[in-house]
Amino acid sequence: MIATTQPARKEKQTDMELSGEFLANIANQYGTPLYVYHAEKIKEQFKRLTSAFEGADATFFYACKALTNINVLRYIRSIGCNIDCSSSNEVLLALHAGFSPRQILYTSNNISFAELEEVASKGVNINIDSISNLGKFGKKFGATYPVGVRLRPNILAGGNLKISTGHDASKFGIPLESINEIHDVVKETGVVIRGLHIHTGSDIKDVDVFVKGVEILFNLTEQFPQLEFLDLGGGFKVSYKDGDHETDIAELGRRLTESQKAFQQKSGRRLSLWFEPGKFLVSEAGYFISSVNVIKETSSVTFVGLNTGLNHLIRPMFYDAWHTIVNISNPGGATRRYTITGNICETDTFATNREINEIREGDYLVFRNAGAYCFEMSSNYNSRYKPAEVLIEGGNHRMIRRADKFDDLLRNQVL
Ligand SMILES: *Cc1c(COP(=O)(O)O)cnc(C)c1O
Repeated sequence: MIATTQPARKEKQTDMELSGEFLANIANQYGTPLYVYHAEKIKEQFKRLTSAFEGADATFFYACKALTNINVLRYIRSIGCNIDCSSSNEVLLALHAGFSPRQILYTSNNISFAELEEVASKGVNINIDSISNLGKFGKKFGATYPVGVRLRPNILAGGNLKISTGHDASKFGIPLESINEIHDVVKETGVVIRGLHIHTGSDIKDVDVFVKGVEILFNLTEQFPQLEFLDLGGGFKVSYKDGDHETDIAELGRRLTESQKAFQQKSGRRLSLWFEPGKFLVSEAGYFISSVNVIKETSSVTFVGLNTGLNHLIRPMFYDAWHTIVNISNPGGATRRYTITGNICETDTFATNREINEIREGDYLVFRNAGAYCFEMSSNYNSRYKPAEVLIEGGNHRMIRRADKFDDLLRNQVL
């Protein structure tokens, strides 16, 4: 583990954590701010999923919007995981990374029909999330291109409202109360519904949410005679800090395997369970290393100013995400309370009143859980450069994206 004040969060993962010393060496070599990803940690998470569902018919599609570096996508393909895409460009990236169309799932929201046509031309698996697009799709493809439909199950789940997607005020999916309109489209166009999909949110700790979700889908199966799969989406919670609980994946596997078997016995139908984990696969594999530019003592607060900001890691400001922050340059230092802020001309607070080993200017501070929705949401705000990304694989490290240069800021501007 990195710091003495924050003992191993979960014993079973201790050996998978990169040490502070190792990360400091990487930072010395590549400079900061820097994103570092640990490939074997991704593999470990994937194995935890597959072994939890060993007795089930289950397929996993990595929700790649969490982190799309092409090297990460290739790695994920190499360990036998499929991929879920939320835009046509992510589909192109997945193909570029070597995934075959059958390994690719496209689950999108509020997209144009033109984009659906583009994705269909690649032959990938498609979930459709509006009656409007389902109708257009059916009219064009009839029975020739079976699809899944994303339903809105009217379940409230997830870490907070900004990351909840399955409740009755959510824009995502076809509301259950509109299910007859799906049948109307099927009748009119002959479109074949091969899957039912729900994704109720992110940071869902409670296994019951998934069990309830699949029960809702089981109850709908009689209406859809040509089903091949039930897709429960992603949203498994990971641990962000000491004492934090993640989704109990082993329990989830046990319960859903049971549900699947019971359903098969009762109905005589065998439906695959599909999952779209994003955060669960890559969150803990990521480390974001920053350097301390300025320490500002005020009468009430000690501000630490980093050489990064919400342009590189927006999650705390965007939806109150917690990132554990570790001073890898002073692991033995006495702890003090700090407010950790960025260098952007905008309030960009990463952490308030946080206990961390004594911080000095020049120290490296590492943000944990920096694999999912971190680099991926970064921007060039304040005309600052996006950071480099490094992949640790088999004990070796290599740069998988260089940091921006000045030319990158002008690249698409008409000069
Ligand atoms: C974002 C998303 C996921 C992944 O969610 P995580 O919380 O990262 O597991 C899965 N499916 C769909 C449709 C999504 O939009």
